[in-house]
Amino acid sequence: MKINILHAGYCTAPEHIAIHGGHWRNIRFPAMFALLQHPHFGPMLFDTGYSHRFFDETKKFPNRFHRWITPVTLHEEDLLINQLAAYGVRPQDVSRVFISHFHADHIASLPDITRSRYIYMPHAYAHLRNLPPFEGIKHAFMRGLIPNDFDDRSQEVDLSKPTLLSEKYAPFRKGYDLLGDGSVMGVELPGHALGQMGIFVRDEAEKLFFFVADAAWLKRSILENRPPHRITNLLFPDPAAYRETLGNLHTYQLTHPETLVIPSHCDETIRAQKSDLAPTLTILTRP
Ligand SMILES: [Zn+2]
Repeated sequence: MKINILHAGYCTAPEHIAIHGGHWRNIRFPAMFALLQHPHFGPMLFDTGYSHRFFDETKKFPNRFHRWITPVTLHEEDLLINQLAAYGVRPQDVSRVFISHFHADHIASLPDITRSRYIYMPHAYAHLRNLPPFEGIKHAFMRGLIPNDFDDRSQEVDLSKPTLLSEKYAPFRKGYDLLGDGSVMGVELPGHALGQMGIFVRDEAEKLFFFVADAAWLKRSILENRPPHRITNLLFPDPAAYRETLGNLHTYQLTHPETLVIPSHCDETIRAQKSDLAPTLTILTRP
């Protein structure tokens, strides 16, 4: 599978919120998405990052609080659809979107992906499906980002069919074979959001990637087993589970240093993956 790690926009927030003992200065948190080009299933995505819809949805209160707390920057060329075009991928070509969780910065471009199936943990969405609009802010959820035909295209992970993972994934023991061919293995990463899902995937060179969404905001948190500021306990549905997940990621990364563990918002990690740059749109459209 060909793997490209990209991001659609970023927000800024103080580093010390993201990691205990961090600096007070504001840092960038890119909204990562990954383009996974599968030899059989074609182009697929892990999350989508921000889109213009995020700004439409946060024009009014209470959603406007999102923009106040974490100001967002999104340039035209960084839109998911423009970046896909640079890889020769049209939105309708994307066969599947693996949704880590339903926070706005992960799903804002779902409506642009017109034909894909949506794959996610059932309990990541069950509590949001009939949420009253004023409750959305508590879950960083914006209904306007959910496509009208979302339910028809959804393929929820079948929790009754877990795969027992081999020792090489320890301490993660239970996974879900999301495509049925072993190429995308979903794992639960509880704590940050209900039903948060990470995925293990291998690239063409057999390098293993572990996309861990918001189980940690910075790679340093994983390497040092250092959680975010205590105030974030107010944001997480299960702070104790968050600590346990972070501890598991720490153990995993120390025992599997060869795996590229990728938190969705770690600027340093995502920049380091940018070496394989796509040709820019300007170059593509030049006669
Ligand atoms: Zn999140």
